Amino acid sequence: MTNVRDLLRFPGGTCDLSKIDSSATPGPSKSKIRAAIAPDTALLESWQERLTAEKKRSVLLVLQGMDTSGKDGTVKHVIGAVDPQGIRLTAFKEPTDEEKAHDFLWRIRNALPRPGEIGVFNRSQYEDVLVVRVHQLVEEEVWRARYDEINDFEAEVAAGGTTIVKVFLHISRNEQARRLIARLDDPTKQWKFNDHDIAERGRWDDYTRAYEDVISECSTEVAPWYIVPADKKWYRNWAIARLLIETLEALRPEYPHPDLDVKALKARLG
Ligand code: AMP
Ligand code: MG
Repeated sequence: MTNVRDLLRFPGGTCDLSKIDSSATPGPSKSKIRAAIAPDTALLESWQERLTAEKKRSVLLVLQGMDTSGKDGTVKHVIGAVDPQGIRLTAFKEPTDEEKAHDFLWRIRNALPRPGEIGVFNRSQYEDVLVVRVHQLVEEEVWRARYDEINDFEAEVAAGGTTIVKVFLHISRNEQARRLIARLDDPTKQWKFNDHDIAERGRWDDYTRAYEDVISECSTEVAPWYIVPADKKWYRNWAIARLLIETLEALRPEYPHPDLDVKALKARLG
């Protein structure tokens, strides 16, 4: 079977997003992928239950990408298909006054998954080298130093028993336009439209450069980036579900086998 981690892992070196087709669908055919949704969902659920039962290790899915790239859609469709009790989901927004009073990793540390959980970051520590860089919210030497800080932090998190899966949802500028227009055309989607997204779209090239640097600077053995072509939502959902399944399969969490005297316990039930 296709190994999506091997297929989509950024191999290292200098990232050039213009060389990666955001509408590509590497792997099985669309019909095979459609047919895989139900069995994959069942598989992800059962691995998640084992992770919860074992209660020793955790997984952290980091979702990054341009506006409309599908971060919310991934949470809804991929994460929404499994038991919410085993999920620790955080959407990172512009920092609050309290968050601003601490270093940029403070709120990230507070949101890490606990043993047995799958943590999901909708945006993450990377905003502090993306939006912060593009909008020049701090000096260049400050955000540049953060690549190393993030790499050290992720190494520490990984050493603590958390497997980190970082996903860049790669869409084209044209696909973003289509999605923004679709929001405007559909009265039930207009609420999702954000005027701010148009201004950010004007900074597409700056964001692209910032993402390329993030992927080049912060791809490590313990915390690689996966570049998921995300123009096609069905492909995106399948690929991210597979990344989680493959990650859990490699961890092989086990059901604990408590030393119970089942016979005696049943007798006490009367
Ligand atoms: P959304 O994900 O559409 O709800 O928007 C969240 C907004 O918060 C985005 O515009 C992000 O760029 C912004 N944001 C997230 N983290 C930070 C940060 N560390 N500094 C500044 N803005 C941020
Ligand atoms: Mg948004």
